[in-house]
Amino acid sequence: MEQYLPDIYQKSIYTVDYSKLMSRGIKCIFFDLDNTIVEPHSSTPSKKAKDLFIGLKQKGFKVIILTNSPKKRLKPFKDYFGIDGISSACKPFTGKLKKAINEYGYAVNEVAIIGDQIQTDVLVGNRVGITTILVNPITEKDCFLTKCNRFLERRRMKKLRDHDLFCKGRFYD
Ligand SMILES: [Mg+2]
Repeated sequence: MEQYLPDIYQKSIYTVDYSKLMSRGIKCIFFDLDNTIVEPHSSTPSKKAKDLFIGLKQKGFKVIILTNSPKKRLKPFKDYFGIDGISSACKPFTGKLKKAINEYGYAVNEVAIIGDQIQTDVLVGNRVGITTILVNPITEKDCFLTKCNRFLERRRMKKLRDHDLFCKGRFYD
């Protein structure tokens, strides 16, 4: 059950305390794309997100998008934000994330992942042993596959809540 439990839980990517992450030794952050950075049905990257990424790079973070979506969905965001990205990541399977961490040359305790789903983003991060950060989804509008995931997610979140481990809206870091 703890494999679904994020180390940090925040409202959005804009409320995460990145300085605190840095002081904990985090140097590289993987960002989920859909419903974390952008609404799932939108292909317009926001200036706000771009500014966040510029700021993070200035702070010294390596920032990488890690999405289960295909290359053509990722590309406009990657280009606009000017950051690296990995598509078709098959989260919660660990292969692509592990490979990326190795290739970029980080240790697991220097890496964090931020996403809106416990059973893809948090699970893959916990499996690999990196810091996991859950944020609330930007919108309730999900793609079909994610809708199915949300159904299971609600059950898992209830289980975590029953064990007093997690409560939606009770943010911590
Ligand atoms: Mg997502």
